[in-house]
Amino acid sequence: MIDLGKEDLAKYPFLAEAGEYIRDRGFNLEEFGHSDFKPVLEKAYNRIQVATTGKIYNSDLHLDNLDSEILSFVISIIMLKSVGISSLTRRFSLAEARRAERYLQQDINRSKDSSRVELAFKILRDVFSIDVNIIHDDFVISVSDYVHRAIHFHEKEWKLVNRRVENGLVYLNSHETVRLIRRELDNYINSKIQSVSIPSVPKAFDEYVSILRSLAKKFTSTFEISTEYPPCIKHAIEVLDKGENLSHSGRFMLATFLLTKGKNIEQIVPLFKNAPDYNEKVTRYQLEHLAGKTGAGKKYSCPSCDKIRSEDLCFEIPECNNIINPLQFGKKRIKNA
Ligand code: SF4
Repeated sequence: MIDLGKEDLAKYPFLAEAGEYIRDRGFNLEEFGHSDFKPVLEKAYNRIQVATTGKIYNSDLHLDNLDSEILSFVISIIMLKSVGISSLTRRFSLAEARRAERYLQQDINRSKDSSRVELAFKILRDVFSIDVNIIHDDFVISVSDYVHRAIHFHEKEWKLVNRRVENGLVYLNSHETVRLIRRELDNYINSKIQSVSIPSVPKAFDEYVSILRSLAKKFTSTFEISTEYPPCIKHAIEVLDKGENLSHSGRFMLATFLLTKGKNIEQIVPLFKNAPDYNEKVTRYQLEHLAGKTGAGKKYSCPSCDKIRSEDLCFEIPECNNIINPLQFGKKRIKNA
């Protein structure tokens, strides 16, 4: 077990210890409906609302506010369960993952306070099974721990050949170290939310639940999935539609496929609306880049089936018929040898 203080629980409220702390203090669901808890309900609502904007909620870690910080996370979860819209929950879990990432980065950087560094490493080890050590000013992890996570990054700087590797260890800075676990942290928080069951919530929650339901509507995608798309592309669209996180490779595959199929940027942008980390400006820029409308004007091609397979994004069916690129689906048929 990790020995955590109250400030740590406020920084990392997804840890089991935060739940234990709340139980030990004797808080219960009915009590949250009392007017005394109105400020905490406001804080919880604000926490979710900020997540919908793609920003990171700023915690107030002043000693007097630590209880309400811890409680607001739990109340946010109760609100999200009551709203019951997965795209909203996914945005929240991603925003909370990024928020915790920020604290983890601060903690592992505190070389003068070894207990902070140890605590952050312990969280990474106990929750995410990743062993981090320090060599001089660098953070190092094993090649297998690195590859297992870096495979989800599309940018070339994450490729193992572009990293400093010595004696089976990959060298990283503090930002890269915690960035590597964002996806796991997001999934961890999301699965915590999914596992919570709430019988009924006090009336005081109703107004927040109703506002959040209308807020979530803006993430509803209206993109039509053509029956002529191959299963890998249909699957990627469905993942986004459910508000789940699609890897960078998956986004790259989907965007390059649709651009080559003649869809324009205006038609593709709404598809990504549901992604937990959606930011319209960034999405547009990335699509323009892939379409060759920025910089050197290089147009990116849809990856091959082999590449897609190696990234666990292939959902082959007999109709794929030995094609080598999703763009051939339904057209080219290669006879079996
Ligand atoms: S075989 Fe190719 S087209 Fe078919 S699902 Fe896999 S990657 Fe997509």
